[in-house]
Amino acid sequence: MKTDSQKETGMLLEIQRFCLHDGPGIRTTVFFKGCPLRCKWCSNPESQSFRPQLQFVETSCIRCGRCIKACPAGAMRRDPTGKTYHLPEKCGSHFACVAVCPTKALRIAGRRWTVEAAVHEIEKDKVFFREGGGVTFSGGEVLAQIDFAERLAEALHQEGIHITCETTGFSSEESFRRLLRWCDLLYFDVKHWDSRQHLQGTGVEVEKILDHLKLAIDARIPLAVRIPVIPRFNDQPEDQRQFCQLLKKYQIQEVHLLPFHQFGSGKYQQLGLEYEYQHDKSMKKEELEGFAEMLRQEIPKVQIGG
Ligand code: SF4
Ligand code: SF4
Repeated sequence: MKTDSQKETGMLLEIQRFCLHDGPGIRTTVFFKGCPLRCKWCSNPESQSFRPQLQFVETSCIRCGRCIKACPAGAMRRDPTGKTYHLPEKCGSHFACVAVCPTKALRIAGRRWTVEAAVHEIEKDKVFFREGGGVTFSGGEVLAQIDFAERLAEALHQEGIHITCETTGFSSEESFRRLLRWCDLLYFDVKHWDSRQHLQGTGVEVEKILDHLKLAIDARIPLAVRIPVIPRFNDQPEDQRQFCQLLKKYQIQEVHLLPFHQFGSGKYQQLGLEYEYQHDKSMKKEELEGFAEMLRQEIPKVQIGG
């Protein structure tokens, strides 16, 4: 059971201003920290855990050794060549190391925000929202912190601010129905058409997600389906045909194809995590033209990229 003060706060990664690819106009994006999925290609691995995490940027480290002395858990070490490294499995996340690091090579990903503090931060950007912009809730997964998201949305709507949600669609039905009450525009991910393969790539099955997509359509929320196109997961001609059938069945009006990229690869190293896609090349937009053309036969609006 959550206490009232937990409902009033949310675990966020950051609030990023001047975003141009997270919805219409100029937007401020609120990155929620914590996600129930574990997509193997995730470009924001620091947004998966619901807890604050230590990020070690090795290129900024001057090997001064202060963190090694400060760490009570023995999680910061030095190898025989003098290089500093972090042992995530030993780390107790009390961040004594961050306070003593002179170069900001050690950083904390994630902290708790109150609704008031988040609104105060977002309001600074209000002037940029005039031409159809607003705020986007991204992640991580907004549905996983629905109490906080709902309170923040309420406060932003009082200021007349438009809200887009980027979501995996994975949650309880109750949480999803709550989001539909205040979300102005939905960017809804469908990562695979086949449940077994969806489970294999993301850790969860697709049925509940598709049920929620249907709920959003029935509620007439403006929405675009987003498909991240991922090597060895959903990039084959048969996948394209199946996606096309599925989206036609749901009478989807807008689709965004998101080409696989490697922007997040360095973060796996910073967090001390394995990255299964480290040797895969980023996709070029042109590689998805054929898929986009196929979809355009059935869907009125198809774009490549966010
Ligand atoms: S967060 Fe704490 S346990 Fe982890 S490396 Fe820093 S000081 Fe050590
Ligand atoms: S305190 Fe910072 S700069 Fe010094 S060794 Fe540790 S990580 Fe590197």
